[in-house]
Amino acid sequence: MGEKLRVEALTLKGDTLRFILMGCDTAFANALRRTMISEVPCMAIEDVFIFANTSVMHDEILAHRLGLIPLKTDLERYVLPERCDCGSELGCSRCRAVLTLDVSAEGEARTVYSGDLIPEDPVIRPVNSEIPLVKLAPGQALKLEAYARLGLGKVHAKWQPVSCCIYQQVDERQLEALGIDRTEGVGKAFIFTVESTGCLPPERIVSEAVKVLMGKLEEFSEKMRRGELMEEIKEFEVVEEVGRGLYRVSAEEYEEEEEEEE
Ligand SMILES: [Zn+2]
Repeated sequence: MGEKLRVEALTLKGDTLRFILMGCDTAFANALRRTMISEVPCMAIEDVFIFANTSVMHDEILAHRLGLIPLKTDLERYVLPERCDCGSELGCSRCRAVLTLDVSAEGEARTVYSGDLIPEDPVIRPVNSEIPLVKLAPGQALKLEAYARLGLGKVHAKWQPVSCCIYQQVDERQLEALGIDRTEGVGKAFIFTVESTGCLPPERIVSEAVKVLMGKLEEFSEKMRRGELMEEIKEFEVVEEVGRGLYRVSAEEYEEEEEEEE
């Protein structure tokens, strides 16, 4: 390397940040993009206890809808349940937040919105209170308790903190047009557009992704130093599929799923 990495913010409008990354190659820019999408934790509802549901919507559909509501996230006070030392299945106040919903339609039909969820911790609340969940006809009721937890986008898209995360490589001329002087820079330049779902400020998502990426690199160099990498590569079995000419990486689970579909 030896190159100097440079970052310059272009615009920050609401939940959308545009910045320029200079002095790296495409592989690094893409690693940063993928880390933002799949490795920066945010809050989402994972477990739902439904006490009453006389609406027309099935419990599991309702639970899925609840899971997809973007929630405000506090990374200072909450940890990923797998990193929490409570060991409890339902979690503790450091690894889960509870939201309750208790709504009934009395005289006339009404829509239940995300804003009807009452958070136990006022910080962990829906980003938008106007997301429709279900419509109740007169006499119908809904009562439930939802448990939100931190998670990663690589496990489920509901834990993806970004609704858009893209980059575009730019050349010298485009940089000049943006008024960016690049006398000392070598390597490529990329314009990133990061739009948060509202769970975290977009600049926080970028800085968290950098932290995650650095942690991974440290772990990698530590393993290299201890000579442990060869062992892992050997364990990571690569099998050639003769018929299709495709390579598969120990995909037993996927094979099972494919068989079921047929
Ligand atoms: Zn805990």
